[in-house]
Amino acid sequence: MTLPTSHASAEHAVDGFRQTFGREPDGVWSAPGRVNLIGEHTDYNDGFVLPVAIEQRTWVAVGRRADRVARVASAAADDVVERPVDAISPTSVSGWSAYPLGTAWAVEEVAAEDSVDVCGFDAYFASDVPLGAGLSSSAALECSLARALSDLWRLDLDGEELLRATHLAENVIVGAPTGILDQSASLFSREGHALFIDCRSTSMEPIPFDPAGAGLSLLVIDTRVTHAHADGGYAARRASCEQAASALGVAALRDATPAALEAARDRLDEVVHRRARHIVAENQRVLDTVALLRTEGPRAIGRLLLESHASMRDDFEISVPELDTAVEVAVGSGALGARMTGGGFGGSAIALVEDGLVADVVAAVTDAFAARGYAPPVTFTVRPSQGARRDEGVPAAR
Ligand code: ADP
Ligand code: MG
Repeated sequence: MTLPTSHASAEHAVDGFRQTFGREPDGVWSAPGRVNLIGEHTDYNDGFVLPVAIEQRTWVAVGRRADRVARVASAAADDVVERPVDAISPTSVSGWSAYPLGTAWAVEEVAAEDSVDVCGFDAYFASDVPLGAGLSSSAALECSLARALSDLWRLDLDGEELLRATHLAENVIVGAPTGILDQSASLFSREGHALFIDCRSTSMEPIPFDPAGAGLSLLVIDTRVTHAHADGGYAARRASCEQAASALGVAALRDATPAALEAARDRLDEVVHRRARHIVAENQRVLDTVALLRTEGPRAIGRLLLESHASMRDDFEISVPELDTAVEVAVGSGALGARMTGGGFGGSAIALVEDGLVADVVAAVTDAFAARGYAPPVTFTVRPSQGARRDEGVPAAR
């Protein structure tokens, strides 16, 4: 099984920090990427989602500075970007460094009057979450640094404040009005569990999800087709959902029933109707998945994953041929279920596969991609992992 990048670790972050800044960091923090098991585009409809944090993480080594300058560097970037902390604003940052600098800005915003200990800092990121593959490398970066700055600046932000800060950073920087899914998963997930989130109340509940215990693997198939979250498609889907909710006279599609939607068919544009049908059905599928995981375990949810994919392909129209191929071929070669995961228009698919069949599924998908002239996919298995944390055992100085 190939990993998207070499295994990153706390040690990589510390080594990078030493080489870049010529001194020792004060600590290392990390936060995971995620796959969404089910519940796509339901977050901004006040609905339900069920993400799973993965063991691929972003580690950040951070050291405080005596002045008020922020310097950020990453193993995934060539430049070291420097800015006075007080000069960071949503419009004064761009490129990759907008994510960490925007996070620093957002943490200070949320902390407000508590920010007496705000100082400059140096930060170095090392990550094995593939960037832009729909596995939320952006939230992993934001959440690792928000946890770090909360400690470094002695703000002791609670979960709700960390969520507000990282969500604000993403919204302000990417400029896409995304929901709270990615940051919640990266902040609050537990090992061996999926995280059931009600995006209206923002209540969260860990749901036991242990594929390995059931003899299964959760396989990620990164199509390497780039997704463009911030533009066109996402905003258009969101607008359709708002239009449907308004026509149905509900605050959000979370409140629409299949019967009410059907009854309103003639009043809705055909495309808007299909978009809404995905959301209404997908919300129910999340609830059904949670119920099945509780009663029967991961083997029982394959059908729901497949129905979710078909709904995203046909009704919500956010899939691409590479994702459809990954799903079809995975299931054709023995996966119990598969679906695209993340915002769509590219990125990754997930498949739930018997341990003994993983190699067959990977070979079949890889062959099908080659036969159709697609770039080779990157495949790897993931385990449900822990959310953002401070990592102990920073290696001693050499
Ligand atoms: P995703 O979150 O699905 O990986 P996004 O487009 O939301 O995709 O975020 C990817 C962007 O986040 C990258 O293009 C880069 O600008 C930034 N980014 C994420 N992780 C890192 C990292 N470790 N180092 C530098 N930049 C990163
Ligand atoms: Mg992202």
